[in-house]
Amino acid sequence: MYGDGTMINQVCLEFQVLKKILSSHNRVQPIRVFDWNNWVPKKVAIVAWRAEMERLPTKCALSNRNINVQNRFCSLCGDFDETSEHLLVACHFAQVIWKNIAYWCKIPLIIAFDIKDLLVLHGFSPGSRKRKKTLYAIILVAIWSIWKMRNEVTFGQAIPNTTKVLDEVKSMAFLWVKNRSKEVTLSWENWSRFSIFS
Ligand SMILES: [Zn+2]
Repeated sequence: MYGDGTMINQVCLEFQVLKKILSSHNRVQPIRVFDWNNWVPKKVAIVAWRAEMERLPTKCALSNRNINVQNRFCSLCGDFDETSEHLLVACHFAQVIWKNIAYWCKIPLIIAFDIKDLLVLHGFSPGSRKRKKTLYAIILVAIWSIWKMRNEVTFGQAIPNTTKVLDEVKSMAFLWVKNRSKEVTLSWENWSRFSIFS
C-alpha cells in the first residue's frame, strides 16, 4: 500500500506558511537553465519545463488569460487554486507521490517549496552520475504522470489515484531508462529495489 492522504489540509497550510517565511527573506533566484535528460522522451521533460515556467494550462493559468473555466480549484484535491506549483508540489496528491518515490529511491523525504526544488534534488543525492541521472528521470516521469492524471480527472472523469501514478512512474521510467541508457543488464527486480548504478 502506498501512503495515506490524511492531514491533507494541515500539510498544505503548513506549506503555505513556510513558503511565505522563506520568500520574505527575498532570496535572489538566478535564472536557471533547464537540464534536459535524454533517458526520458522529450514530451515527458517538456511538461516539467513548462511547469517550472508556470506555463502549463492549469485552471489558474487559463483563468488569468481570461479563458472561461468553471472554477479555479485543483482537479486533484479540490481545495486550493490550481497552479502548476500547487498541483506538482504542494497538493497532498503530489506529496503522497514524492513521499513514496523518496522511500523507493532510498533518499531523504523530499521537501520541495517549488518546482525548481524537485528539478535539482538529484544533484544533491548520493551515488554515481548514472544513479543521479536515473533519479532525475524518475522525477521528470512523475511530474509528467501527475499532470497526465490531472488531465484524466479534468477531461475524462477519472478519480485521482496515487497508486496508478506510482505504478506508471515505476514501469514507464524503467522502460525508458533501460532502453535509452542502453543498460541491457538492468533488471526489473533490481529496479523495484532501486539497487542500481550505486
Ligand atoms: Zn490539490
